Amino acid sequence: MGTEGESAFDRLWKEYSLVFRDFDDLTLGRWLAQTLGQLEGKAWRLSHPLLGAYRLGAQLAHDKHIWFKRLAALPPAYSESPCCRAPMLRLLTRDVRDAGLICQHCNETLVAFEDIPEVLQKELGAWAGEYGPVHAVAHWDDRQRKAAGDYDRAFENAAKEAERLLARAGMKLAPKLLEIYPTIVWEDQDECLEVRPEDVGIEA
Ligand SMILES: [Zn+2]
Repeated sequence: MGTEGESAFDRLWKEYSLVFRDFDDLTLGRWLAQTLGQLEGKAWRLSHPLLGAYRLGAQLAHDKHIWFKRLAALPPAYSESPCCRAPMLRLLTRDVRDAGLICQHCNETLVAFEDIPEVLQKELGAWAGEYGPVHAVAHWDDRQRKAAGDYDRAFENAAKEAERLLARAGMKLAPKLLEIYPTIVWEDQDECLEVRPEDVGIEA
């Protein structure tokens, strides 16, 4: 049985992650380091299966203090995270203005918004500023929903807009971040607006 508040989805991912429990610490550390080497130089969808596998391994490695114990060498392109000493692997989300870029190992802020180079900060800030009110439609209260008249339609429109904004993150913002960081991950879904990765089309 799962713990309370855990979704069927969470339980499935927990099941997937069992494979890494069969790795000893050194093997897990080396697998992560090697995979990071293969992730290098690209912008990744958060939903990509290789990245999903990496994140599962990374989570376990974090729980087992594998980077803290320096069991594996950092791949040369990656510097050490101040938050958890893992290699710096940054995630761009719609919350970038408040949360900055997120650590894929411990889920803390890895790069504060203010520490992102200024030119990019402006562009990311403008994008997040557009995204905020769109995302908020999913969390409107009754009064706001009534005021909108047809809420289903407002929700549908917001979802379409979110798809467009997420595609922009993948096509425009992530490549720019990649010019300054070895690897970047971008969130390609919006669970509150029911936008799935397959709804977010980018030109390959
Ligand atoms: Zn961290």
